[in-house]
Amino acid sequence: MFTPIEGRSVLVTGASKGIGKGIARVFANAGAKVLIVSRTLSEAQATADEFNSAGGTASAFSADVNDLDAMTAAANEAASRHGGLDIVCPNAGIFPQATIEDMSPQEWDEVLGTNLRGTFISIKACLPHLKKSDCGRVIVTSSITGPVTGFPGWTHYGASKAGQLGFIRTACIELAKYGITVNAVMPGNIVTEGLEGLGEDYLATMANSIPLKKLGVVDDIGNAALFLATKEAGYITGQTIIVDGGQILPESLEALEEA
Ligand code: NAP
Repeated sequence: MFTPIEGRSVLVTGASKGIGKGIARVFANAGAKVLIVSRTLSEAQATADEFNSAGGTASAFSADVNDLDAMTAAANEAASRHGGLDIVCPNAGIFPQATIEDMSPQEWDEVLGTNLRGTFISIKACLPHLKKSDCGRVIVTSSITGPVTGFPGWTHYGASKAGQLGFIRTACIELAKYGITVNAVMPGNIVTEGLEGLGEDYLATMANSIPLKKLGVVDDIGNAALFLATKEAGYITGQTIIVDGGQILPESLEALEEA
């Protein structure tokens, strides 16, 4: 049995929908106090309202993870509304597709800006509060795409997701002196609004390439994040957990078909 997370204060970026919402819901259901951050305030507020109606403690804040001042304001709000800040989950991310031949430098910068620079900014903004916690946690949403696998059209995305892992391996050393752990969850294909935007064919092909023969759900990622946030996970830092239904493992199509 893990020590309850009840009463801990959590900030999740990109939490109005998708994986961030799943992470935030799992924490809210476990009794944590959650700040839902996204750019669109109405959507963040609707998510917070949903959690509060279910008995949770959640509130909303509009901020762009590219903006250090806005994220500092978000972190300060989390601390003042919820009596401190123990856990930050840099999760906001975008995954537009473009081949190298078609991609503009601006498109590259936008993806690296939100996914990688946004991770750094979210952590930097929360750090003054995390340092005061006796159980500081950083839990980054990376991906299998980039660190382990590749997919045409996602060179910028893959670079950003692999970059997050490079980032946490030094961040965990820098922040160890404050008792803060820094880890990442690496989702496979998880059903979200963003993923559904890639189309039915993509979803069906992906489900078929996964040993468990189904896409993941957002709470699968939330549950892995919740584990990393527990007191009992306090000796784990600089590490990753892949949550992908076994997707990265088959050596070939035959390996899947013969099973
Ligand atoms: P999603 O459904 O498109 O949701 C994205 C969330 O991020 C929304 O809340 C969005 O709200 C917010 N957001 C986007 N840009 C932002 C910015 N600049 N500042 C603040 N918030 C921002 O995406 P998802 O599928 O849940 O993906 C979430 C994370 O999981 C990403 O980091 C992605 O790389 C990772 N991931 C997803 C999958 C998957 O299968 N879905 C797999 C591996 C990894 P606003 O637009 O209102 O800001």
